[in-house]
Amino acid sequence: MSADRLSSVSKKVKPEGMLLHPLGTAAAPEQELLCIFGTGDFGRSLGQRLLQSGYKVVYGSRRPHSCGPLPQGAQVTSHEAAAQSAGLVFICIHRVHYDFLEKLAPQLKGKVLVDVSNNLKKNIYPEANAEYLQRLIPGACVVKAFNTLSAWSLQNGPSDANRQVFLCGNSAEGKQAVAEVSTKLGLTVLDKGSLSAARELEDFPLQLFPEWRLPLRVAVGLTAFFFFYLLIRDVIYAYVEQGKDISFRIMVSLANTVFPIVSLIMLSLCYLPGVIAAFLQLYRGTKYRRFPDWLDRWMLCRKQLGLVALGFAFLHVLYTLIIPIRYYVRFRIAENTISQIKENKTSVFDTTLAWRADSYYSMGILGFGLFILLGITSLPSVSNALSWKEFSFIQSKLGYLTVFFCTFHTYLYVWNKFLRPSSYKWYTPPAYLLCLVLPSLLIVLKLLLLLPCVDRSLIRIRQGWERNDPEDGSANALLP
Ligand code: NAP
Repeated sequence: MSADRLSSVSKKVKPEGMLLHPLGTAAAPEQELLCIFGTGDFGRSLGQRLLQSGYKVVYGSRRPHSCGPLPQGAQVTSHEAAAQSAGLVFICIHRVHYDFLEKLAPQLKGKVLVDVSNNLKKNIYPEANAEYLQRLIPGACVVKAFNTLSAWSLQNGPSDANRQVFLCGNSAEGKQAVAEVSTKLGLTVLDKGSLSAARELEDFPLQLFPEWRLPLRVAVGLTAFFFFYLLIRDVIYAYVEQGKDISFRIMVSLANTVFPIVSLIMLSLCYLPGVIAAFLQLYRGTKYRRFPDWLDRWMLCRKQLGLVALGFAFLHVLYTLIIPIRYYVRFRIAENTISQIKENKTSVFDTTLAWRADSYYSMGILGFGLFILLGITSLPSVSNALSWKEFSFIQSKLGYLTVFFCTFHTYLYVWNKFLRPSSYKWYTPPAYLLCLVLPSLLIVLKLLLLLPCVDRSLIRIRQGWERNDPEDGSANALLP
């Protein structure tokens, strides 16, 4: 059905239609009339936006005389009359009530029906709502669209996040008609193909932070593991072996040990899949073979891994800032000073310790500063303002520098503690030693990739060279 035909079927509403509000200037004769079935939340919000965008709107309702307040300028009538008056009908009704539409098949024949419905759960029906609607009214062109927008966003003007209208349908003309309306509403259209994509679109609003799930699970898992590891090694060990109750340390000291550990591991996990992918490409000698699914999934959530790591780094900074005002710290400093006065002793200034402490703080501050930069540039509004080269410079080059600073910061903290037998309480290594394994491995692997011969091979592979390409004379030669 062409847009012209759509306009031509926009006839006058039948006499049984009731005008809720007098049509004002918005009812210019050339305005296209669109129909909405259902006067609920979504129907009302959609109608209001259509009216604001210069369309005429007629509602089809079970109770045209007693339905709730509707946008000013809209008409309301029976389903039959409304269906006949417009070429494009928005079905703003829950799927469970679709049965009655079958009776309207003659009036809806040849019309574009926009299915906006969603379900409460995935897979509760054997077929998608839009496919079901198409089966009920085979003579209509069903287009799935608008279901990813909320009534609220339609009413208040879409924000960046929900400016997109995903649509799918079997009729190109039907999709074109819906796309034109969407564009006039100020929305961006993304065509997802035929009606068989409807289920995917219907599942879309049911997703709860899909790309955040894995990073959050990793964060919770790591936090729980290190919390209990430190609880056993520090608090329980001191109680059992030395009879000391230092459980108060759980609140700040233990927390401020867990947060930087989790942050550093998650930052490494953010960059590790890129390095693994590079080695895989070198091993395979091509970039044209798909990565294994686990690596694909891992790569897709790198941004979220990095942002969660940044959140933990923030907590580490905040906890560190309160250290000087802690009762325990103030007590220990006072106790130490008084005992030195009593014993008439003075401490010798340790230059190595001063260097180490200053370097430790400096690395931490630099690492955290760059970490914030990575977080800011991962925001779409900022990254959109950067060229691809600028973005990859910050996220890749400065990203590895962040890993390096943060790892070095931790090494300076650990220093030679791992050499002391007392660090291996109950034969377990200190938590800081454990957390250094992954970032150290990452740095070593990255340095290997930076070796000129390896780097050149990787660049060639990424430019399309294949080791087993029979047409390439240099085939089998890994090095150029
Ligand atoms: P709603 O407020 O419950 O409105 C549904 C409307 O359907 C009612 O106002 C009623 O209109 C009509 N209706 C109810 N029972 C009916 C029946 N037995 N037979 C025929 N019509 C019946 O729901 P809504 O929030 O507007 O949602 C409508 C559709 O939009 C749903 O499929 C929903 O999944 C989809 N959607 C909603 C949102 C949202 O933010 N609300 C977002 C995306 C998609 P009349 O009394 O005028 O007949």
